[in-house]
Amino acid sequence: MTTPSALAERVSAGEIALHELEAQTDPDTAAAARRELLESTTNADLSAVGSFTFDADVVQSAIENMVGAVQIPVGVAGPVAIDGSSASGTSYLPLATTEGALVASINRGCSAIQTAGGANAHVLDSKMTRAPVFRVENVHAASALAEWVDENFDALADAAEATTNHGKLLDIRPYVVGDSVFLRFAYDTKDAMGMNMATIATQAACELIEAETTADLVALSGNLCSDKKPAAINLIEGRGRTVAADVQLTASQVADRFDTTPGAIEEANTRKNLLGSARAGSLGFNAHAANVIAAVFLATGQDPAQVVEGANTITSVDVRDGDLYASVTIASLDVGTVGGGTKLPTQSEGLELLGVAGGGDPAGANADALAEVIATGVLAGELSLLGALASDNLASAHEELGR
Ligand code: NAP
Repeated sequence: MTTPSALAERVSAGEIALHELEAQTDPDTAAAARRELLESTTNADLSAVGSFTFDADVVQSAIENMVGAVQIPVGVAGPVAIDGSSASGTSYLPLATTEGALVASINRGCSAIQTAGGANAHVLDSKMTRAPVFRVENVHAASALAEWVDENFDALADAAEATTNHGKLLDIRPYVVGDSVFLRFAYDTKDAMGMNMATIATQAACELIEAETTADLVALSGNLCSDKKPAAINLIEGRGRTVAADVQLTASQVADRFDTTPGAIEEANTRKNLLGSARAGSLGFNAHAANVIAAVFLATGQDPAQVVEGANTITSVDVRDGDLYASVTIASLDVGTVGGGTKLPTQSEGLELLGVAGGGDPAGANADALAEVIATGVLAGELSLLGALASDNLASAHEELGR
């Protein structure tokens, strides 16, 4: 059997390329050979990166040129009760992070929500989008293409849905810019985050458009989707799951957990999350939604680059008859419980902890439940940070826990 050292030498000699190692040997030996090569050429010690528990075979579809794995500590916040449209019962949230004080902060928010009897959560909309861009002759042709797409929706849906067992085409919305036509395809992708599914299905629909019209496809993604970029369209029209959560706390619960008043938290939210964000031209009107979203995404195998879309979150706080009402609405949360990184063993355990691993019954219910759990975690994080700001103890908490 070929050793990692022998393979590393063959790469060094230019006999095989770094990415061709899996064609010569098993994935674990290929990764070991890459580590040897890199260690000898850079003097880096990759022994920690090389210590991992999963079988390299299992992650072949998730990585190329694998050398090992990065470990991120995982903590839990909870328990927190959720009365959702799909999530129900009490959850512990798995959170992968290196930010000291984050888990403690979310945990404090969960405990406050728990004293109030739990949070409400609801998925308001669900659609994964892909928006190809076509070149046409002029603005008349652009308008004609938009009309043709509307008239031929059923044929386009047949072409798109022939590529998937679960995906359903919901809508195609045209946007015209001169001689460019963007078609924003929206799919129900059930329990899959759906970006691969939507891309493959849209490719099939585009083939029909090119065969039946004079439009030329320029790019399968025309950035109006809009994937992994800050974009107002996702905030306004939604992408992935649009999900909201809320809770009402009495003044004494607020005093007990946050050492402050509902009025002080309301003012902190108004001046910081609403006015400050507006003045900054922000797309997110929240304190740190991305913190919770990133930590749950990493712990459950979501695509971390899509945290940028999750940051399109609005936090509202009102004093209601002396009590505190708080809500979060996440416009574009891209989540799945099948496919992508959810298949990795540690990430799959994170989903199991939440009781949402794999396909739901009915299909889509698990991804909806995951979205509602994340929204509840975001609500907990918002309450805790606003509470800390309102009671003026943010710096001391970080000093004590994070440094
Ligand atoms: P995927 O793993 O490519 O597809 C999901 C698979 O799960 C499909 O084969 C689907 O089968 C199957 N499936 C089984 N049970 C299901 C259920 N209950 N609900 C839905 N599907 C079910 O994953 P994806 O979610 O489409 O894409 C996620 C991946 O895309 C991530 O790895 C992400 O990093 C990557 N990504 C891709 C792009 C891109 O442009 N291509 C962009 C961003 C991210 P059927 O299709 O037959 O129903």
